[in-house]
Amino acid sequence: MGAGYTRTANASTGVATRTTTHCPYCALQCGMDIVRVEDGPVSIEPRAFAGRQGLCQKGWTAAELLDHPERLTQPLLRSGPDEGLRPASWDDALDRVATAIRTCWERHGRERVGVFGGGGLTNEKAYALGKFARIVLRTPFIDYNGRFCMSSAATAVQRAFGIDRGLPFPLEDISQTGALLLVGSNLAETLPTAISLLDDLVGHGGPLIVADPRATATARRATVHLQLAPGTDLALANGLLHIAIREGLIDDDYIAARTSGFERVHQRVLAYWPDRVERITGVAVTDMRRAVHLLAEADSAMVLTARGPEQQRQGTDTVQAFINLALALGLPGRPLSGYGPLTGQGNGQGGREHGQKADQLPGYRKITDPAAREHVGSIWGVDPDSLPGEGVSAYDMLDAMGAEDGVRALIVAGSNVAVSAPNANHVIERMKALDFLCVLDAFRSETAELADVVLPVAQWAEEDGTMTNIEGRVILRRAAGPPPPGVRRELEVLSELAGRLGAPQHAFPTRPEEVFDELARASAGGKADYSGITYDTLVPDGAFWPFPEGGEETPRLFEDRFAFADGRARFLAVSHRPAAEKPDGDFPLSLTTGRIVEHYQSGTQTRRTPQLANAHPDALIELHPVLARQHDIEEGDLVWLASRRGRAAGRARVTPDIRIDTLFMPFHWGGDGSANLLTNPALDPSSRMPEFKHCAVRIDGVEPGDPRRPPTP
Ligand code: SF4
Repeated sequence: MGAGYTRTANASTGVATRTTTHCPYCALQCGMDIVRVEDGPVSIEPRAFAGRQGLCQKGWTAAELLDHPERLTQPLLRSGPDEGLRPASWDDALDRVATAIRTCWERHGRERVGVFGGGGLTNEKAYALGKFARIVLRTPFIDYNGRFCMSSAATAVQRAFGIDRGLPFPLEDISQTGALLLVGSNLAETLPTAISLLDDLVGHGGPLIVADPRATATARRATVHLQLAPGTDLALANGLLHIAIREGLIDDDYIAARTSGFERVHQRVLAYWPDRVERITGVAVTDMRRAVHLLAEADSAMVLTARGPEQQRQGTDTVQAFINLALALGLPGRPLSGYGPLTGQGNGQGGREHGQKADQLPGYRKITDPAAREHVGSIWGVDPDSLPGEGVSAYDMLDAMGAEDGVRALIVAGSNVAVSAPNANHVIERMKALDFLCVLDAFRSETAELADVVLPVAQWAEEDGTMTNIEGRVILRRAAGPPPPGVRRELEVLSELAGRLGAPQHAFPTRPEEVFDELARASAGGKADYSGITYDTLVPDGAFWPFPEGGEETPRLFEDRFAFADGRARFLAVSHRPAAEKPDGDFPLSLTTGRIVEHYQSGTQTRRTPQLANAHPDALIELHPVLARQHDIEEGDLVWLASRRGRAAGRARVTPDIRIDTLFMPFHWGGDGSANLLTNPALDPSSRMPEFKHCAVRIDGVEPGDPRRPPTP
């Protein structure tokens, strides 16, 4: 029994087992204890972790997933295209997967089996999945849903600072900074317990500036709300920098000492004079000026960005534009100051560090780097030349499924792509064109419903493992008990499959701690160096990477230098381009997508949690009262939207908090309620992140919430 696991006698309830662990959901990874009373219920209590304590409703209700009646406890097999899924033994299911992979190899070549992972998988599972793809399947085709979540920020941060760790400082710094610009983050709903940081900031008089097309619960706390049109963030950032330069607010000494490339940026932002930016963004010049002065005149300040600026076809450049602003104001690397991206998924950060991304090997190494291949090949005991090259990004892989040059068989772990990928109708069609689809999940998700084989796997509280949270802090999750009978852990499944496919099974250990020790060695010398970390190091508050063997953790980056040979951060000149799809006569409105507090990602877990599902049983669509009146829509009506790719429906939430020309639809539901039936898969050229934040739609029908009202055509 490891650290963090205690048994206590309780006079009223009998013997209780208390496991110290973390929430299964978002990137904050709040601390929690799972309390199991012998022969009694499982409950969750908040636990102090790294100076914070508290859970949102998702954390509080997470235990409901453990004994859930819809839990998969047997593998499922489909015998033929017109057959349904039926229960099967593990041996039959694993044999079927191995046979299908071998058949695919014979018919289409070794590389045509793909792997699709998830940003909720532990570091150990992400690492094992990458290793399995490279040395068992020997395929370049592996990527994960983090590509949809944060890859633009990751790309921009690498370009500007030379390293991507999420926040380069501890979360607590946010509450103490002098002024904060928060761009495209409804933190109150997406990282709920972190809202206390903003409340502390505002409480001590620090101005909060929020850039968001919606007057969200976060924006309503703001000193200044920059309510920009969707897809215009880059123009806003360049406009703010233009004002800062013109009004003498930039830090010339910092720019000279710690950066390169400012002159070109200076020239570029000359074209973003305030009146022009007001016309592009809809943000008043007075508000822009006020925001810049508040940021520049504070003793310390931060710029934080999230999905808003990232999920655009110019997401990488948009994030760069805000980094340019932060650099010009002299913020990165200064006390209580800097730029940081806000990760969304539980292990969105660690998930992109250890090899489940198409271009990466463990330790945030590039798979195209000969030295990286040599090092990782030596840890894996394989010839570096046998490692495949760089694959393609998540949507590129999904788009080509079943095609001549695409994957013909796919293994999906920890992801519900049928709901979370853009242009969902097309992705589902491509999934049906595969020769074989295998899904590893705890529940029968929309993607599992399309599979040939579904393998029931453990949930977060049923296995040990590490996650890397929003701050780049590696934390340890402990198992509170074994998985239910019939359920296996992903590490066991990969080991079994490796054996069946002719690889040495011992190369795939099933004990998470053993996998972590290997991951740490594989990461040694890489950007994300975990080689000084062991499971013991992570108790009680985790450890910030880089943490080299024999060294120390690194809570704050960039204090002395940035991660380039010359130590300087990079400015990069970037220009605004409109969204890929402009509203027009056929599709006159803008749709933006996002999250709400009760649900998480594609809703596979939270839609099955009664308290959360009851709060929002149906998909919803936010629209302005004026737009609602124009279409005779009342609160609760079922509104159908159409884009060039499909139709989707949700219950109307009529609110003045949104722009008149814009609709908001969260992406947590499947079926007709899937926002991604509408979204545009236009990809950022660098990060390959889809443009979830903007597409053109029309209102395509209304069914009254009150059945006595007639439908509106
Ligand atoms: Fe879990 Fe995030 Fe809620 Fe914390 S804020 S309890 S990590 S979902």
